[in-house]
Amino acid sequence: MNKRANIDTDASQANSASPEMKLAFFGGNPVLPPERITAWPAAQKKHLDALRGVVESGKYHRVNHPIVTELEQNLSMWTGKWMVRAVGSGTAAIHVALDYFKNCGDRVVTAALNWPGAVGPIAICGLRPVFVDVDIDLAGIDQKAAADKLAPNVAALLITHLFGNNILVPDARSSARGQGVALIDDVCQTIAAAKAIFNGAHLESDALALSGNGAKHLGAGELGFILTENRNLIEHVDRVSLASSARDGERIFSPCAQGYNYRPNVFSSSIANMRITNLDAQLEKRRSNGQLLWSMLRELPGLLPLFNPSDQHQSMLNFPLRIEPNSLGFDSGPAGRDFVVKLLKAEGVPVWVWLRKPVFEYLPNVQDSWRAADFPNTMKLLDTMFYISEIAPPNDADVMELYAAAFHKVWKALPRLVGKGMRQPSSF
Ligand SMILES: *Cc1c(COP(=O)(O)O)cnc(C)c1O
Repeated sequence: MNKRANIDTDASQANSASPEMKLAFFGGNPVLPPERITAWPAAQKKHLDALRGVVESGKYHRVNHPIVTELEQNLSMWTGKWMVRAVGSGTAAIHVALDYFKNCGDRVVTAALNWPGAVGPIAICGLRPVFVDVDIDLAGIDQKAAADKLAPNVAALLITHLFGNNILVPDARSSARGQGVALIDDVCQTIAAAKAIFNGAHLESDALALSGNGAKHLGAGELGFILTENRNLIEHVDRVSLASSARDGERIFSPCAQGYNYRPNVFSSSIANMRITNLDAQLEKRRSNGQLLWSMLRELPGLLPLFNPSDQHQSMLNFPLRIEPNSLGFDSGPAGRDFVVKLLKAEGVPVWVWLRKPVFEYLPNVQDSWRAADFPNTMKLLDTMFYISEIAPPNDADVMELYAAAFHKVWKALPRLVGKGMRQPSSF
């Protein structure tokens, strides 16, 4: 059905529409009162018990703290495969892994649609990033483009899993294996990628970097993890992340310590340890919320999810969507998406625009070497995507229904709003 509308209207006409169409952006009542939504990390009283456990231990320091050791073991068991070391952050985990492999080459291949903090450690390790475009259906690295860039002088292929999607890219992985290129997975947003996710198999990878920060699944404060099967890498974690103490508690100033003090926070570790108990239930709720929400949104024209919400292995950290601007009557470019996000936000839906630029434009030392126009899929996603943030428990079906009602309200009004007026969205 062609929903392109030519009605040249203004805000007052939108208001004169039937009452249920009176958008909050133009002064109508929002669909969602803010108190209906619980924002992640969904603080609970029992988190105080986790913090109390640390206080009562009398040790606020990482060195061989039993809580940290227990957390590492519990996370390892939860994954069903990997050895785990806790560090200070997900970024630290990426840095430590890259540092371990930095002598295998002088560059790192990664996607242009990426989190700047994930890519920053490449330069810290003295390596050069090589960017490739993304597969539009994964919002993850295009495996053919990645394989084309792999060569013996590439130290690592850094695969970033965004929003909760699993980036399996088996051909890129086997190509990396064939060329002796290390595989590092940034699963900071996709914790379930640490489990067996594909035909009962775990990711083919040398190291997974995971974040426990307050916005991620473990919602624990500041915390990160390295997951690997490589014992030498596990030892390397201590060299890079412990400057003046050994893991067994000894006070040492090792001549080979590289001194980043990427130690895990014990209070955060205690909260993360508590959350692991409910991690599978959390993931199931995120998935069922996402699936339900999409079942109520799928009939809306010009709206698509970034990955399949019915995939039972994804982690649904946020629910990412994109619009097709032209099929909604908008011009190409970000203005249509920005307008839709404004309307949804006014209705009380927690929607956000993620990054607006390819990752190299956030990196001062490399930005001049790369052109956005060479990454059409990355640019298309950056111009058209947005995400719904509060998809986790305790938010449940009732909240998803309200999100969906807000989308339907906005979509119903869109044809009246889109037209010549849309060419100057700032006038709304
Ligand atoms: C959060 C995040 C990181 C960094 O994790 P921190 O713990 O905040 O340092 C890295 N990569 C991605 C994709 C992330 O979402």
